[in-house]
Amino acid sequence: MSTNERTTIFHAPYILPIGLPPISDGAIKIRKGKIVAVSRFRDLPKTGKEKLISLQDSLILPGFVNSHTHLELSCFKGVIKRKRPFSKWVREIIEAKKKLSERDCETSIRDGILESLRGGITSFGDITGTGLSLKVMERMGVRGIAFHELIGFKEEDARRIFATFMKRIIMFQKKLAGLESTVGIGVSPHSPYSVSPELFKLSCGFAGRLNLPVSIHLSETEEEVRFLKNGNGPLKKLLLDLGSFDRGWNPPGLSPLRYLHSLKVLSPRTSIVHFNFFDEEDLRVAKKSNIKIIYCPKSNNKWFSRKRSPVMDCFKKAIPFSIGTDSLASNDSLNMFDEMRMFKSLYPLFPAKKILKIATAGGACCLGLEDRTGSLQPVRFADFIAVRIPKSINSKNLAEYVVREVKEASLSVINGRIVYDSLGI
Ligand SMILES: [Zn+2]
Repeated sequence: MSTNERTTIFHAPYILPIGLPPISDGAIKIRKGKIVAVSRFRDLPKTGKEKLISLQDSLILPGFVNSHTHLELSCFKGVIKRKRPFSKWVREIIEAKKKLSERDCETSIRDGILESLRGGITSFGDITGTGLSLKVMERMGVRGIAFHELIGFKEEDARRIFATFMKRIIMFQKKLAGLESTVGIGVSPHSPYSVSPELFKLSCGFAGRLNLPVSIHLSETEEEVRFLKNGNGPLKKLLLDLGSFDRGWNPPGLSPLRYLHSLKVLSPRTSIVHFNFFDEEDLRVAKKSNIKIIYCPKSNNKWFSRKRSPVMDCFKKAIPFSIGTDSLASNDSLNMFDEMRMFKSLYPLFPAKKILKIATAGGACCLGLEDRTGSLQPVRFADFIAVRIPKSINSKNLAEYVVREVKEASLSVINGRIVYDSLGI
């Protein structure tokens, strides 16, 4: 179903643009995939030729931005569960991934997107080992960045891995050139325990030259902190068992973030995923490097106490952060309402209005999409969702209601196209 070509007005009891106060009896006018105007219905300029879609008992708000996920792993929902030790879980995923065909991966990505649309997500920061998510995201008309993953801990393999990677990225860039695509490319050197210093430098340098966003798993577990401090523990054993350990590697004796800082690979395009272990000096480095942090409320909370979360420190120090679901191998849903509810239960005093902003504009900023999506205002792409609200809700308790009570979207529009519709429009 498409509303992409014709000028269309969506009219609803409330619109929450993000960054501006709620609009009662609101309307959003879209043309050629972009927002033309957002205002009260009676104030909206109309020609009478527009298609009008009126939503009863609904709120319209920007679609959520899931800034960290692995859609390829969606087929592991209920099959692989996050477990301790971390290295055991990583082994299980490596083995299970080997058994997936290209077709399995595409199905997995598609199913992950379908679940996400119900969960209010319209934009994705997806980590892809195969590159297939770029194709599937584009085919399904969702917005996102496909972060191409690099893995290789042996220094001697760095140039070979990077050369293959570079060829793949340039091929994808050629395919996208000149297209008004909803998807873009990013770079993801997996983590400090799986990527050599040389591969970090090559891949982040390449991202810098092409101005591509970078996403890195960092400070996720105590095992990782220990490995970088003294070079041993379960992660060393994992690398040895996989034949991937570099015997010439010397542990830097630094925290994970300070290690990357010492390699000079951090930039304002970098998003750090998890960041559960940090100290004051790390926060200072994060602020100075202008990096962004991606917090995964449900995935993290299963494994760490609330002390192991960067939320309050980032907020106090104005370090930008956003929300990710992570994958269905460590979470049981790809649903931003679930993530926001968990966030609110862990930080009850954190205002719901701010949580909504983090889940929308905050995510867009982490993916470098802030000029395209994450808020409802003219010239942004028409990426929004509708949710059902009771008549008793007023503009003062809208945000609180969405964060605490709503379970799924009833409608999703991306690039001006209706991509999910449970209302029968
Ligand atoms: Zn992840």
